[in-house]
Amino acid sequence: MVTSRIDTDILILGSGGAGLFAALHAHQAAPELSITVAVKGLLGKCGCTRMVQGGYNVALAKGDSIERHFMDTIEGGKWLPDQDLAWQLVTLAVERIRELENELGCFFDRNPDGSIHQKAFAGQTFDRTVHKGDLTGIEIINRLAEQVWARGIARLEEHRAVELIRTRDGTALSGVLFVDMRTGEYVFVRAKAVLLATGGGPTMYRYHTPSGDKSCDGLAMALRAGLRLRDMEMVQFHPTGLLAGAHTRMTGTVLEEGLRGAGGHLLNGERERFMGRYDPKAERATRDIVSRAMFSEIKNGNTSPHGGLYISMSHLGADNVRKQFKGMVERCADCGFDLASGLVEVVPTAHYMMGGVEFAADCRTELPGLFVAGEDSGGVHGANRLGGNGVANSTVFGAVAGDSMAAWVRREGALREPDGAAIESAVATCETPFKNRPARSNLESLREKLFETMWERVGILRDAAGLEQALAELGSLNDELDRFALDGTNRAFNLSWHDWMNLKNLAAVSRVITAAAIARKDSRGAHFRSDFPETGPLDESAFTSICFDEVAMRPVKFTRVRPGQTLLKDAA
Ligand SMILES: Cc1cc2nc3c(=O)[nH]c(=O)nc-3n(C[C@H](O)[C@H](O)[C@H](O)COP(=O)(O)OP(=O)(O)OC[C@H]3O[C@@H](n4cnc5c(N)ncnc54)[C@H](O)[C@@H]3O)c2cc1C
Repeated sequence: MVTSRIDTDILILGSGGAGLFAALHAHQAAPELSITVAVKGLLGKCGCTRMVQGGYNVALAKGDSIERHFMDTIEGGKWLPDQDLAWQLVTLAVERIRELENELGCFFDRNPDGSIHQKAFAGQTFDRTVHKGDLTGIEIINRLAEQVWARGIARLEEHRAVELIRTRDGTALSGVLFVDMRTGEYVFVRAKAVLLATGGGPTMYRYHTPSGDKSCDGLAMALRAGLRLRDMEMVQFHPTGLLAGAHTRMTGTVLEEGLRGAGGHLLNGERERFMGRYDPKAERATRDIVSRAMFSEIKNGNTSPHGGLYISMSHLGADNVRKQFKGMVERCADCGFDLASGLVEVVPTAHYMMGGVEFAADCRTELPGLFVAGEDSGGVHGANRLGGNGVANSTVFGAVAGDSMAAWVRREGALREPDGAAIESAVATCETPFKNRPARSNLESLREKLFETMWERVGILRDAAGLEQALAELGSLNDELDRFALDGTNRAFNLSWHDWMNLKNLAAVSRVITAAAIARKDSRGAHFRSDFPETGPLDESAFTSICFDEVAMRPVKFTRVRPGQTLLKDAA
């Protein structure tokens, strides 16, 4: 059934910040190597890096320091981050932002004296977020894509990776099986090194922000390949998702963090500010705290017409809001809201997965030949990602992965024969809905079940009974998906088929989120158990590490700083 086979030295899955930075760095480090970027959408036009609004955290300004950025990241992550990875993030972000400006040609906003403007983001002790207005990602991804095009790096666009295929003896990765979405044919790409950079994406929740091409495919493939995933219970909800009714895909899309950073107010259905009752930092508390407070207000029934709350910016001056948040004002206007001088309905929305594949500082995974970077990886952010650390993570570790894949391929990379039986089995699994007969169920109703389970029982507030119920529901959802039958046999651009594959992967990753949430019997950052509301001793912090269905709790190594200590000299 595999109709074409391709060989390449380096294969990169995904063309977000991680994938494109990896391609450029690998090419720079080893120009003689063949590099292929394979992507579910069109290169430069898909994924979440393009959607980045607020900006990029980096310690550049006088008064700030990488130690301060590091401490904010560790404290924001509730002492769960891998400290060496977090240190790499904050130190290399400085190099990457220089590279973005000086080598790749990004224009970021500047101060009158010519220095880079850095704005406030919630949960941080310094204004360090570099940005281009409030649509920073378009600037970054356009410049990256242009540079990739200019270097003649090979592209497989509208190619969906469906399975990581090991070698015959199972000890290393041989390559990746794809569906060419334009024809529906299967393609096998053999590679010496593969980067998983498909960007996670918690689109299993009723309200979510990521792009529609993201359905946790990389995480699901890693799980099936037997890799360990960590921190999977940590799903970040962004407090201000736009709420414009069920008829529009704009519902769930994010209104940027800078609105709260700049002094925006959150109001309940009675138009009263409520955040002060939950946290002294009010609207500028971290995302987890604000989302939880909002969810509680919503559960109390004090809501806006669509069942959410409001954000109000008018007290900051309508002209000022229009100038500072042009993109957001226009987005709200498209949905009939006036952000500058009125009220906009908002709801917490699933935004980011802190969890992902466990990896080493050079982006290697346990499976020889497989590397990981960006939102598919776990360990950098711990229990909570700071706004602005996401795109820093994908660009920093994308570049690291590019450098280390190039070195690895030169040193020990080889094209290895795949396990043919594994390819056949993966093809057979993809073919399931064409073989099942007759058509028995409706994908929309299955999606709705997934949304209901994850939003109500594995979302912002969790407890043992709800999580156990969710596991059972996810099991029967998976069975229903296995019985699902597609109408017809046309595979070219068959979006229902791809939707089925999306849901299969989302159900698998949802199960892992749920299992990790059951295992963590405390509350930290994005994970809140109403039956275990205490954080527990920080000195004994442990992270969840899951492989297939087995969850282990592993102690965090405090390699640079212990709870109660700081790296900041002026605070000592
Ligand atoms: C609306 C929004 C606003 C955000 N704003 C900010 C912000 O202001 N600051 C910040 O730091 N972070 C922000 N983030 C988070 C940030 O976008 C991500 O952390 C980061 O960009 C992820 O980069 P990535 O390269 O890992 O993944 P992505 O950029 O999402 O790229 C993933 C790529 O993988 C491809 N792909 C997916 N599945 C497959 C498959 N099966 N086969 C082949 N290819 C596949 C996708 O098509 C895409 O090209 C925001 C996110 C969203 C959704």
